[in-house]
Amino acid sequence: TARLTRLQTPFRRIPGQYLARRASSTLQNPNKKDASVVHHHRPQTHHHHVTYSETDDAVPLLAKQPIHRLSLADLVKHGRPPLNAEALLSSARFTLSLLPIRLAHRIQALRNLPYIVVSNPNIRKIYNNYQHSLSTLLPWQGRTISNLEDEIRFTEVLAELVQTHTDTIPILARGFLECRKYISPAEVTHFLDQHLRARIGTRLVAEQHIALHYSSSPHFDPSSSPTPCPENPGYIGVIDTALRPASTVDSCGSFVADICELNYGVRPEWIINGNPHTTFAFVPMHLEYIITELLKNAFRATVENGMNKSPVVITIAPEPPSISTPITLSPPSVSLGAFNKDHIQPLDDNAPGVTIRIRDRGGGISPDVLPHIWSYSFTTFSENDDSDAPPGAWSDDALSVISAASSGGSSIAGLGYGLPLSRAYAEYFGGGIAVQSLHGWGTDVYLRLKGVGRIE
Ligand code: ADP
Ligand code: MG
Repeated sequence: TARLTRLQTPFRRIPGQYLARRASSTLQNPNKKDASVVHHHRPQTHHHHVTYSETDDAVPLLAKQPIHRLSLADLVKHGRPPLNAEALLSSARFTLSLLPIRLAHRIQALRNLPYIVVSNPNIRKIYNNYQHSLSTLLPWQGRTISNLEDEIRFTEVLAELVQTHTDTIPILARGFLECRKYISPAEVTHFLDQHLRARIGTRLVAEQHIALHYSSSPHFDPSSSPTPCPENPGYIGVIDTALRPASTVDSCGSFVADICELNYGVRPEWIINGNPHTTFAFVPMHLEYIITELLKNAFRATVENGMNKSPVVITIAPEPPSISTPITLSPPSVSLGAFNKDHIQPLDDNAPGVTIRIRDRGGGISPDVLPHIWSYSFTTFSENDDSDAPPGAWSDDALSVISAASSGGSSIAGLGYGLPLSRAYAEYFGGGIAVQSLHGWGTDVYLRLKGVGRIE
């Protein structure tokens, strides 16, 4: 288990949990790493039922304001070295100008769910988390972050915000599973698609400022930094301008092989071909999430199909910047249109990208399963093999998988969020995912990622 814990690192810090931990443990006093230092600053109330009359009033007005259409230029413009105090302050002000509106939109969407669904304790908890986060930001509105002391305190608030929403996914999964009598899978998928895509952007904005704060901090101690190091010259905030997908595949591959070893007693193998030296500018946390989920699916299918001797083949193909021939992705993302406005626009439409194909000999996906693979909560995974539940049913088995996920553990499959959420991450910067199944043989997954563009 010690080994597994070590290897969980790339998975655990998704998305940005480590930044929040680092921030909460070092911001108060950069020389003191004891997390307890800041505990008394944490509001103790947000898991209880609290009346947030102040935020309640703020929500409808804020939610009426349109969500700022983020561009990557917005994300990197404060982070170009040399990072000076003025750049850091303007990054903080920019972040503050976005977050309350974004949170209010999410609160409004939660309020629009059927009342019996919002009353579920798990959904309620997510709702309260949003209310709480908004209430921590509202006092900052209407004043200017004009000095570094303000900036430090604001970054603390951001770190707490990122931390508060870290475990959202298993909690929402459990909540919607418990409410399955009252809301259809299609409605759940619609809500989650919006919610989780918006969450990607909100976390990215907050994490970007936290990372910039660290890369500019005179107290920053690189030796204590987990990778990716924000002080690394190749980074602008959370963006790695020279991310090497082959390295991500190898680190996520050994993590997923460990989970397989625990679940099935075998370690599937993988090989990388194509152009393993490719690098591009991307957010490492997002790539790690996607690759981990796709490798889980490929390894699980390989083992369950008894093909342990056939390695999963990962082909990495850089995309020449001049050629902009997007591969057609099918099926198209149901609700992408509605979210385009919330998407980060590539800095440069000709930004170099990469296509990664993950090919397994796991037997493919049967035609009756195929139409459901992009729905949240759809899974063919079952913990007990002799279950009579039809494939894809919202089984109570999922509850035990969710419990494992909420307690920080990881299982090979079962939440049914892997594919749809990976697609949300890929589409965030203009990429996509296509699944080609050759039933009876195996599956090819094409992951196309657009780089975040020229940073200079
Ligand atoms: P989960 O893995 O938790 O079940 P996913 O969203 O990752 O959820 O996948 C949904 C379903 O798609 C899986 O349960 C499985 O039936 C099918 N699937 C995905 N990838 C593959 C693959 N490479 N080979 C076979 N089936 C797959
Ligand atoms: Mg999966």
